[in-house]
Amino acid sequence: MAAVILGCDAGLLRRWNYRAAVAQVAASGTFLDRWSVRFHPGVGPGTEAWFLLAGSNDAASGLIGHGFVTSEPYQAPADGDDDATDWFFAVALDSLLPLGEQIRAGILCEALPSDLWDTAKGPSPVTLPPSSVAVLRRLWRDLGPSTTDPVEVPGGTFPPEDISTIQVNRYERDPDAQRACLAFHGTSCAACRFSFESAYGAAGTGVMGVHHLVPPAVLDSPYQLDPVADLVPLCHNCHAMAHSASPPLTVTELRSIISAAGHVRGEVVTEVALQAQRDARRILGGGQM
Ligand SMILES: [Zn+2]
Ligand SMILES: [Zn+2]
Repeated sequence: MAAVILGCDAGLLRRWNYRAAVAQVAASGTFLDRWSVRFHPGVGPGTEAWFLLAGSNDAASGLIGHGFVTSEPYQAPADGDDDATDWFFAVALDSLLPLGEQIRAGILCEALPSDLWDTAKGPSPVTLPPSSVAVLRRLWRDLGPSTTDPVEVPGGTFPPEDISTIQVNRYERDPDAQRACLAFHGTSCAACRFSFESAYGAAGTGVMGVHHLVPPAVLDSPYQLDPVADLVPLCHNCHAMAHSASPPLTVTELRSIISAAGHVRGEVVTEVALQAQRDARRILGGGQM
């Protein structure tokens, strides 16, 4: 799965009405935007995107968001200049940190190769090496928004030969662990955001399942289940998809697959869709930045 850094500046945060965007992601799980660049960007549906704020000083810089590219790149008139053409692609952000809480440059420097840090300052996508992605995911899990689902498999502790699929499933069926997991992570699917309560009303209460993130092969004895770090809410469709691979697909991989599959060839983010999002935010009372 490809991953890129997208550089943000103060003008972009103003255009997003950043505080309202943070609130929208926290409430609905997603914020849509149309990313514009000068030249053809080497991204496609399902590319993982890390949003890096590049301000004039340390306090105004750092990692602020995570999401996925959801369209092929396409050309359209540049914003505010009908005679020029820019490249665009759609992005869906799935987690955003409030301003001031971004993961600071000092911490990120250790995660990113230094030359990459220097080039990742503008809006053009900068491809990340897999080693950096692993570090960013760990940082984001530890320091990102608290609603972020664990995307890394924590080191567990059970001898592989002592555990079978059935024993792992037992963790997923433990009602106390399930309650603790859902109380912390909420009852929407961590991968597709489906909510049984929203779709089926009262009949949907208590239907969301949980998935155990730790594959049997990495468990050592004695293993103590942590329902917040080791379990994640998944609807039954996403749970089946997660277990379609061995080891199971991670939540990040599932989201990437969903972003890529939900894309219809030739589809673009229309001005109508963006306006609808702006209207919804105004009605919901999103404040100014
Ligand atoms: Zn789902
Ligand atoms: Zn599972």
